[in-house]
This record gives sequence, structure tokens and C-alpha cells, in this order.
Amino acid sequence: MTELSHVADSDTARPDYLPLAMHRILIVEDEQDIADLIGFNLQRAGFEVLKAHDGIEGTETALRERPDLIVLDLMLPGRDGYGVFRELRRDSRTVGIPVIMLTARAQTEDRIQGLEAGADDYVTKPFSPKELLLRVQAILKRTDATPGAVDFTHGPFRFDKNALKFYIEQQPAELTSTEFKLLLYLCERAGKTQDRNDLLRTIWGYSDAAHSRTLDTHMKRLRQKLESHGSWIETVRGVGYRVARAEE
Ligand code: CA
Repeated sequence: MTELSHVADSDTARPDYLPLAMHRILIVEDEQDIADLIGFNLQRAGFEVLKAHDGIEGTETALRERPDLIVLDLMLPGRDGYGVFRELRRDSRTVGIPVIMLTARAQTEDRIQGLEAGADDYVTKPFSPKELLLRVQAILKRTDATPGAVDFTHGPFRFDKNALKFYIEQQPAELTSTEFKLLLYLCERAGKTQDRNDLLRTIWGYSDAAHSRTLDTHMKRLRQKLESHGSWIETVRGVGYRVARAEE
């Protein structure tokens, strides 16, 4: 797996996505210069930025302000990033807020743990502000409710695209925004194998194949959450994933 920090600072990396309404991003980072750098770049891109400088303040701010996305450093005083994350995922006010974790380069385990804990994405320090911005925009683009969208049903699954709510056999089930998008994407293309790289590009916005672990980790968690219905998702070895057709 390569790092995320080497996207060239050129105009070719400029995203095609501009937020319509002003999204609010909470940055939880104790290192002031990093928080300022991220904040400056997000503001310049049209986001409203909130900052918290330790884990306790980060948790409180998230619960109170309910931002659209949280950039969460793992190494924090007071309460570490995992502690903050667990707290926010336990609370109904914050359970659906996408989280991008900031991890240290040396701590490969951090990335894996973060993904297994259910983080939507991670960025490894040192990173370019532009790379983080692309990650933020990719997540908001895919989690934004689509006006006028209707429910989508496939087999036992029902997706409420407006509210990002998910049901199995009419029972509400808890999915993260990434899991929701991933399963919906596969269900809308049932019977057709989706290429791994296409999934990484579409769901996460990755432009290369260096993030296979991200896909597999999310898929594993998603199947666990679907319990017996996890078998709807088929692994096509060496290619990608496919959801079975409803009539099969
Ligand atoms: Ca830190």
C-alpha cells in the first residue's frame, strides 16, 4: 500500500465538485499548525470550518454542532481519536457523520484499526492539503442526499436515499454512509460484477489501486452487519464484487 501524500499540487488535481450549500467541517487536531493549514485550505474551498484541539472538546463540539464531516486526528490529548470516534458512533446525533482519520505515517496499524472501527477514510501524515480536500469532497459528494430521490429496494434490502436510512426486511439496520453507498451501488447494478478499481474510484475517489485494503475491510464489515444476508454480496476473485440478482 502506498501513501496518500504525493498528489502533485497542480491544477489538474482541482476537483470538479463545489459544494452548493456551505458544508461544515470539524477539525479535531491538537497540532495548531496542521489544524490551521487544513482549516485554511478547506475555507478557501468554500467550507465552514470548526476546530477542536483535544479529544474531549472534539467530542463535545461534534455532538453540539453536528458538522457534515469530521477530520479526526488519532493522537490527541484528553481522549484519543479512537475514543472520540467510538463516542460519536454510539450517539444517534453523530452516528451518521462521515469521519476521515489522520494517521501517522509509521502507524500502519492505525490505518487498519481505523478502517475496522468504521472510519470512512483515512489520510496519512504528512499529506498535502489538496489531497485531504479531495478526500473530503469525495465523501461529501457521495453522502449528500439527492433531492427528489426515492427509495430503492433490492431483495431484502431497502435504501432510503434521502435520509440515508437502510432496512433489512423492513427492520432498520445501521450502516455507515460509506457502507450504505457501497451496498446501494452494488444493488443498483445487481448481477454485474463491479471492478475493484472502479469501486475504489467511485466510492472513495481514489485514482489508483493502492487502497485495496480499504475496500476489503469495508466489505468485511458490511457483510458482518448484513448477517445471513451478507451472502447477497459475492466476491469475484481477482475482479471485484457483485450483488446477486433478486430473482436468482
Ligand atoms: Ca495530534
